Amino acid sequence: MSTIPQSKALALSQIAPLVIQSEIRAMSVECERMGGINMAQGICDTELPAQVAEGAIEAIHEGRNIYSRLDGIAPLRAAIAEKLARRNHIEADPNTQIIITNGATGALYSAALALLNPGDEVILFEPFYGYHWSTMLSLRVTPVAVPLEAPNWLLDLDRLRNSITPRTRAIIVNSPLNPSGKVFTRAELEAIAVLAIEHDLFVLTDEIYENFLFDGAEHISLATLPGMAERTITISGFSKTFSITGWRIGYLVASPKIIPTIGYFHDLTYICAPSPLQYGALKGMLELPESFYNNLAGEYQQKRDQICAALTTAGLNPTIPQGAYYVLADAARVPGKTASERARVLLAAVGVASVPGSAFFVNGGETLLRFCFGKRQPDLDRACAAISQY
Ligand code: PMP
Repeated sequence: MSTIPQSKALALSQIAPLVIQSEIRAMSVECERMGGINMAQGICDTELPAQVAEGAIEAIHEGRNIYSRLDGIAPLRAAIAEKLARRNHIEADPNTQIIITNGATGALYSAALALLNPGDEVILFEPFYGYHWSTMLSLRVTPVAVPLEAPNWLLDLDRLRNSITPRTRAIIVNSPLNPSGKVFTRAELEAIAVLAIEHDLFVLTDEIYENFLFDGAEHISLATLPGMAERTITISGFSKTFSITGWRIGYLVASPKIIPTIGYFHDLTYICAPSPLQYGALKGMLELPESFYNNLAGEYQQKRDQICAALTTAGLNPTIPQGAYYVLADAARVPGKTASERARVLLAAVGVASVPGSAFFVNGGETLLRFCFGKRQPDLDRACAAISQY
């Protein structure tokens, strides 16, 4: 006799209520409903380079449509190793130290599966990228927020030191940082490295915005600091640099001792990054000149200046980002009790969607809104004109 399942048996997992739909997606949905300009999601709807598109289309026509090796195609790993040596000063063997992943997101997830246990604590700097926080929750790992000091988001070393407990297993560093655009200085990274070595911690660094640097800010890969190569998992990808967020191509670099296990979990979750799209990223890497990367930074610096000027005109005081393509603005003058209400009021008033600052804090951010300026120029012009009128 068949039994009807009891509702208890059909209950969601214990962590399901903790991992709520991200505010970013919620604002995007609301924006689409209203026909507004979406400055909420980091979707970077600028054009991809022609070489990148051609590389993928050629690969599809040439029949490169089956699974790749679990760590990705060899020529892309080789190109990444060459780039890591030249630009990041990281020496990595493309056969034993690099995995092409399903975006930076897949890299973080598989590394976390390989390295962390339920109940471990992982330190994040606040304001943080919500996916980093929720990924930890989804693995039953406890994220611990170490607040950075507004308005310049400086690292308070004592706070970091006091947040380390016997259960701490790792620190997540995102530089340039989403949402504040902070770029960690060499001194800050050295201090993090000293603590990581002292307490025997892994460091997961998300460097996805490494090519979006303004006013001469320098990007330093933590893995290059003394003693850090063996304990750092360097994560980056092509979503932002090549404007291909929907392709899901990223990579990670780590010690050969832990790569096989991370590779195992990446295989288990994704099998491999999309094969023909790996060829697209490869062609971009091989054929785009150095000027492409410099122009990118220059173009985004202009966009940053444009949005910051519009926000200032509107009395929504921005903290000026040094990198990435987001700006946090003080929206205290927009009516509302919470950042969520403020974001909705602003969307209704000027037709521009932003993300409530509370999405990046455990408790707080209620007067902040985050605007993404990774937009096509005409959309940015329209958004800035509308914001200036507020
Ligand atoms: N890391 C950060 C800090 C991001 O802002 C984003 C995109 N919003 C990602 C990772 C996602 O990268 P990917 O598309 O490579 O998964």
